[in-house]
Amino acid sequence: MKKYDLPPLPYSYNALEPIISEQIMTLHHSKHHLAYVNGANQAIDRLEKARRGENPENIRSILRDLSFNLSGHKLHAVFWTNMAPPGRGGGNPGGKLADQIIKDFGSFEIFKKVFSDAAKNVEASGWAVLTYDPEGDLLFVYQVEKHNLLHPPDLPVLLTIDVWEHAYYLQYKNDRGAYVDNWWNVVNWDDVDKRFSKI
Ligand code: MN
Repeated sequence: MKKYDLPPLPYSYNALEPIISEQIMTLHHSKHHLAYVNGANQAIDRLEKARRGENPENIRSILRDLSFNLSGHKLHAVFWTNMAPPGRGGGNPGGKLADQIIKDFGSFEIFKKVFSDAAKNVEASGWAVLTYDPEGDLLFVYQVEKHNLLHPPDLPVLLTIDVWEHAYYLQYKNDRGAYVDNWWNVVNWDDVDKRFSKI
């Protein structure tokens, strides 16, 4: 049965320097993301065993592990492709996405401030996410705690930043704010626009 695999990065481990160090990218992708992929696969195995009556463990504990690890895998997969080396990444969005940002936030600068504030103020470990809800024709920003708390259901992740300490601490120490401010230089707007256009 097909399960989850660690997707390769679309660039080398040192490609986001000096914004995100090679050491962080290597550990973050090959250790942390891999652990979520493995955790999701293990939770699926435990579910299959439970279904066959071989593993009468607490269903709540299995589903909690599945939610945490699968959400971690999915968010990291978007996060990697949301970034590109400085020079290719950064700058401003274009096209339809730029128009929608201006409609919903007033300006790109205001959007950046809203998203940065959300990222800097996640309590403990989590993410900031930009989503689009076609029902309301609305872009908005939300926070995720851990990998799986506070998500509005059934809305696509267009742009996200990981603000777990493992995403920045080896380089930025406790200065999450500096990491978030610098991160805008590696945002791959082509990828965000592609995700927006597919909705
Ligand atoms: Mn992470």
